[in-house]
Amino acid sequence: MRSESEIAVRSVVSVNPATGEVLREFECASGDEVNAAVARAHAAQEAWSDLGVRKRIAVLREFQRELHERKSEIADAITRAAGKPRAEALVTEVLVVLDAARFLIENGHRLLRDEALPHGNLATKAKSGRLVREPYGVIGIISPWNYPFSIPATETLAAMVSGNAVVLKPSEFTSGVAIELSALLHAAGVPEDVFQVVVGDAAAGAALTQAPIDKLVFTGSVATGKSIAAAAAARLLPIVLELGGKDPMLVLDDADVDVASSAAVWGAFVNAGQTCLSVERCYVHRSLYETFLRACTEKTKKLRVGHGEDRETDVGPMIHERQLRIVEAQVEDAKARGARVLAGGTRLRDLGANFYAPTLLADVTHEMRIMEDETFGPVLPVAGFDTDDEAVRLANDSDYGLAASVWTRDRARGERLARRIQAGTVMVNDVISCFGVSEAPHGGVKASGTGRTHGRFGLEEMVRLKYLDSDWMPGMKKVWWYGYGESFARQMEGFLDMQFARGFGQRLRGALRAAGVLRREQL
Ligand code: NAD
Repeated sequence: MRSESEIAVRSVVSVNPATGEVLREFECASGDEVNAAVARAHAAQEAWSDLGVRKRIAVLREFQRELHERKSEIADAITRAAGKPRAEALVTEVLVVLDAARFLIENGHRLLRDEALPHGNLATKAKSGRLVREPYGVIGIISPWNYPFSIPATETLAAMVSGNAVVLKPSEFTSGVAIELSALLHAAGVPEDVFQVVVGDAAAGAALTQAPIDKLVFTGSVATGKSIAAAAAARLLPIVLELGGKDPMLVLDDADVDVASSAAVWGAFVNAGQTCLSVERCYVHRSLYETFLRACTEKTKKLRVGHGEDRETDVGPMIHERQLRIVEAQVEDAKARGARVLAGGTRLRDLGANFYAPTLLADVTHEMRIMEDETFGPVLPVAGFDTDDEAVRLANDSDYGLAASVWTRDRARGERLARRIQAGTVMVNDVISCFGVSEAPHGGVKASGTGRTHGRFGLEEMVRLKYLDSDWMPGMKKVWWYGYGESFARQMEGFLDMQFARGFGQRLRGALRAAGVLRREQL
């Protein structure tokens, strides 16, 4: 007999983080329901794959049209669920997805079609080789709340154009946005079972990880990523992990202070700092340090904090109070260890429970938690450095490696430094916008994850690569098959000499010896 708690239906509640208003309560999918969704996805996937890339691209085009038409509604839904300013919902979510669709519409067919693979080895010249890209089958996607539309949508579009079915488990805090994505896809012509949403919390995510999916694309924290990687390893489930970041920004001695300080302020506070690519550590050359801090202080103090629906708002609330308390504890730790607070550093209780003032900290060190752990909140911690080498050492002194930026008037110098930084992406004179470059791969090194989403390499993650080898001479036995013996060994030595010996004479003698292989007796 099942216990009462097993019978009780679990639910997750979506709350407007600015107001505390309950937006909607969702029933959590049980393990059985997750398995049933995956079974339906498997049943529907073959027909979707058989449709061919061009027809799937036509559906994508329709999705793009639908999304463009409903852009305002979708941006409103994102702002209500995640709190971000509406302008950010349009630019960092809707625009990113429209452009990801554009990339796949323009390039999907070219990148997914068979590719000839010419053979270099003389022994295998009588065959032609081809690379064939086949869908995995059912891709599971588990996504976070901070970009509740652009993250699952960009991953979904790549999975679906490649011929996969998708089962998405969105964050429990922003389930409604995933439901909007589902409505858009189905209205565009994606069959119901080819894209399904299973709503729920960690348990539903764990159930999807255990379900018979063929690949999992996970975006979220390092802690969850590790537990998913362990579960996936036990069943050899292929995974992509897009995890946290502690992105450094390096402001070199020749940087434009006005531009770099604006970038630091935007890069640290966009989406209230709840961006995997946020500027989480800022290192500034000592010759610019105080000027840079003055500029950042002035700009930070000008930011208007408020509800995302208010068109004047620059910085919205954090997603929930638990996240805010992490930020608060890190700021307190930094203060106790000698960091200077130049702006913010407090909650904004008058605005609501989830508001924290954009905070500028100076003189931070790597002994402070704020320079070690992901903050994921509106804090810009700044430290000084003396040489480029020291800046690179500081940038690389982190468990994370998602992205980084270098600021300089000398692009060549910036690019040289960029090559020395351990990160999936390094931008010279920009931050965060790499996520909106649909051609560019997104992903990290070290604890920031493994695998890539977006662009050509994100598409490659959605397919199994099959090598198709086809022999042109079906009536001929291969010379390396059985029928070995002393003369065959000599012929093979000759064959190796013919191809790899240094001197022309040795090669020629090798060729003459090797020729005998064509006349030998074989089984
Ligand atoms: P999270 O790890 O708490 O949750 C992410 C998702 O995993 C949610 O849907 C959650 O329900 C699910 N989940 C939780 N436990 C699970 C389990 N045991 N098994 C399966 N699923 C489980 O992360 P979050 O708080 O939603 O998101 C914030 C984190 O995501 C930050 O660390 C941020 O840096 C990271 N992030 C990374 C990227 C990137 O592209 N690298 C992008 C956005 C966010």
